[in-house]
Amino acid sequence: MMNFHVLTLFPEMIQNVLKESITGRAIRKGSITLNTVNIRDFTDNKHGHVDDYPYGGGAGMVMQPEPVFRAYQSVKERIEEPVRVIYLTPQGKVFNQTMAEELAGEKNLIFLCGHYEGVDERVLNRIVTDNISIGDYVLTGGELPALVMIDAISRKVSGVLGNDASAEIETFYDNLLEYPQYTRPEVFMGEKVPDVLLSGHHANIEKWRREKSLERTMDLRPDLLEKANLTASDKEYLKKYMAK
Ligand code: SAM
Repeated sequence: MMNFHVLTLFPEMIQNVLKESITGRAIRKGSITLNTVNIRDFTDNKHGHVDDYPYGGGAGMVMQPEPVFRAYQSVKERIEEPVRVIYLTPQGKVFNQTMAEELAGEKNLIFLCGHYEGVDERVLNRIVTDNISIGDYVLTGGELPALVMIDAISRKVSGVLGNDASAEIETFYDNLLEYPQYTRPEVFMGEKVPDVLLSGHHANIEKWRREKSLERTMDLRPDLLEKANLTASDKEYLKKYMAK
């Protein structure tokens, strides 16, 4: 069970995506909960402004500290134990599967979505425990990054995927990419599903899948192989594959 809390200026962006498909089912089943908090509800000016010009000049607007802090407090005061607060920022550590798995062990996570030129540094210094980026490019806001993270983390929360095993052996598990997948029909545009997958011989199927994983990783993401846990026979296979 995981409780996601999202501090945002665009709560509908978060709700509308997560209510669909697998995350939507997980919310309805109670495996995860979603609490979106509209930062704009915590302004104290009658126009509902949440941003202002940057001190020192420069382009764009900056999110003011007080509404962000109050929005954070409204969540924090309902959680007894220490809770991690993730600020989505292109300046953060780049998100990956290991981080998703580690974060899935928490009971609550608070995400802070920035907008405009970002958020006043003083509130960030007071509340943020983790600065996380989803890649080396700049987006208009933290909502898409929060959605990406929540989706990836949810898959690792018990009960979210119908078959827990389906998240076990997949791409990035063991630092290898997943083997190719096939389903019906047996022949598509003249191309048949590999015979071994129709053989019913489990050991041969496992062997074929391991080899395809190794080949794919070598072809598409050779950088991952350095960290992969390879057996002597994996190494032998890769040597032969490279020599072809
Ligand atoms: N001026 C900021 C800078 O140069 O670091 C960029 C601000 S960006 C236009 C607005 C907001 O989008 C950020 O506060 C952050 O929440 C979010 N954001 C943009 N790119 C992101 C990324 N790659 N990963 C995570 N969050 C991102």
